[in-house]
Amino acid sequence: GRRNLLRLRTVPSISRDGVAVHLQANVELPSEVDSVHHVGAEGIGLVRSEFLFMNRDSLPGEDEQANAFCDLVRHMDGRPVTIRTLDLGGEKLGHALKLKPSANPALGLRAVRLSLTRRDLLYTQFAAILRAGVLGPVRILLPMVSTIHELRDARAVLSEVVTSFRRANRPLPDPLPPLGVMIEVPAAALSADALAREAEFFAIGTNDLTQYALAIDRTDESVAHLYDPLHPAVLRLMHFATGAAQAAGIPVSVCGEMAGDPGLTALLVGLGLRELSMATYALPGVKQCVRRLDVGTATHLAHRILGQPDGQHIADLLRRFNED
Ligand code: PEP
Ligand code: MG
Repeated sequence: GRRNLLRLRTVPSISRDGVAVHLQANVELPSEVDSVHHVGAEGIGLVRSEFLFMNRDSLPGEDEQANAFCDLVRHMDGRPVTIRTLDLGGEKLGHALKLKPSANPALGLRAVRLSLTRRDLLYTQFAAILRAGVLGPVRILLPMVSTIHELRDARAVLSEVVTSFRRANRPLPDPLPPLGVMIEVPAAALSADALAREAEFFAIGTNDLTQYALAIDRTDESVAHLYDPLHPAVLRLMHFATGAAQAAGIPVSVCGEMAGDPGLTALLVGLGLRELSMATYALPGVKQCVRRLDVGTATHLAHRILGQPDGQHIADLLRRFNED
């Protein structure tokens, strides 16, 4: 009930055997920031900056974006905010950007691909994020990365923006914000060891990772019954990427829908994840699970799960585990 929720807001997110699992919030709209505090999130693990671009014919400029990001950072009062650069494609922005429609928007010119084709977009976003970073800790997250070159190209643009700030004597965050990548394309997951040498953090996006690993359009109802984040292929991709991050010593989180499902908390923690970012309403339930969890047992469970032949077996194993 309500009392329990209030209590959960302040108790630490620590397992029975003393392992901290950091719970952060996903934010799609600035108005959600109050609920971020209400559930006691340790930070914002994902700001979907698309909200600035939706339902309009023009592009938002640096000031407008900086104001929005500064508000979020100020509200978080010293807790970290991870801002993702634009994750839209021609189907949404075609009009403002004069782009040709794509036959397969999910596979087309979108997200970081679009940002690197239209560098003015990326330049403006980086400038706005740097301005917010002066007010509190921010991290910069690139969506839909599939090769290391995209990370390098984006880093070059970020360096250009930093240089221009220095020349103009504009204040910069100190230290500069870490630049990380979403692991949401199978190619990124399977080359995570190479990406981890140059990315400063990973955020695993299980929504798209499932879509692209299984070749299931996540918006197509006629194949929704085949969309299964528990498919062993998805879990093995996550396992590989998490191991690569750990080996390289960089932070790794999960910020897809899986992170907010209390039925999957044992699996994610068992896979080695210690940072989960989710819709705010899901956070108290996940914290409750963390506090009941024994990480040793969860690790054992995850290893058993990775050996299962299909998602159905895995769902059954998890159900039995969660009932005990
Ligand atoms: C994801 O793909 O899992 C993710 C977190 O990003 P989005 O849902 O915004 O595509
Ligand atoms: Mg995604």
